[in-house]
Amino acid sequence: MDARLRAIQADITTLVVDAIVNAANSSLLGGGGVDGAIHRAAGPDLLDECRQLGGCPTGEARITRGYRLAAKHVIHTVGPVWRGGSGGEAPQLRACYQNSLALAVGHDVETIAFPCISTGIYGYPLDAAADIAVTTTRAFLSGNDSGIREVTFCCFSAGDLGVYRDLLEQRAG
Ligand code: ADP
Repeated sequence: MDARLRAIQADITTLVVDAIVNAANSSLLGGGGVDGAIHRAAGPDLLDECRQLGGCPTGEARITRGYRLAAKHVIHTVGPVWRGGSGGEAPQLRACYQNSLALAVGHDVETIAFPCISTGIYGYPLDAAADIAVTTTRAFLSGNDSGIREVTFCCFSAGDLGVYRDLLEQRAG
């Protein structure tokens, strides 16, 4: 078990971490779910900065300031819409975690929190998505001298938290 990984049940907008990750849509202009919650909590300056970015393709990530959030940064990543699993959704979701973590490292982020990307409106099955979240993050941390001290998987529901806790208790590899 990697002591840098943990799972909690919380509203991600309340977390005191260096960066929170937003499950955004490709326009980066706000949406429902966790995206809407982050924009409401950060205030209108976040949308102004996002407008300058000109969108973000699926699997990539962009970084902004956190404005009224306790988090200094928001890393916006665009998860895949679930279309049954044969449309490249898994590599795209892996890329979301890899690209978000790489951006975090580039901005000296030591503590970062992820929501369950793609598992809400985008319909990705939670068990499969959580497995990708945990295995991709583990691989990234073991392969990089990253400076990341803590990765929080921030679950909105108790059911999601149970799935993540089970995965984190399993031995890596
Ligand atoms: P996507 O479009 O990528 O599926 P959603 O925002 O619909 O994004 O859902 C992603 C996950 O974020 C879901 O598990 C949802 O329950 C969760 N979620 C929604 N609001 C919050 C919040 N305030 N904090 C943490 N997680 C949240």
